[in-house]
Amino acid sequence: MRDQLTAAARQSKARPCPQCGADTPYDERFVMWCAACDWNVDPGGAEPARGRFEEMQRRLAHRYGEQLHAELLADPDAAKGRVAALRGHSVDATHPPTHLRRHLIEAGEPAAAAVVIDPGAAASIAAELAPARETVARAVIRDLAG
Ligand SMILES: [Zn+2]
Repeated sequence: MRDQLTAAARQSKARPCPQCGADTPYDERFVMWCAACDWNVDPGGAEPARGRFEEMQRRLAHRYGEQLHAELLADPDAAKGRVAALRGHSVDATHPPTHLRRHLIEAGEPAAAAVVIDPGAAASIAAELAPARETVARAVIRDLAG
């Protein structure tokens, strides 16, 4: 990959940007765009979404991307935590890394639950949570699918 990028850089030539005149790398294998003024950054625009679900995914991806960008600008140290999470390590140095805790759980034998409830208790908990479930479901539909 690195050799391909290096080879691509060697073949790249500069041309003046048609919009601002800045020297712009040109390679016939790629779409030319200008870093100085963003000319031709997205020449074709986004492909139309193939359905409502894809529209929702795009909105969420955009929203999460914007949130992540704002969080990282506000707290650059947060990036360290995200990298640690991606690697499976805990930010908290007083505990074993997450991947080791996961491994321990996976290696252990199944055990009986410490708390067991009877079907009547389960039904009463479900009835108690039903209004909250409805509220959450409405919020999910309103915020994510609306
Ligand atoms: Zn330009």
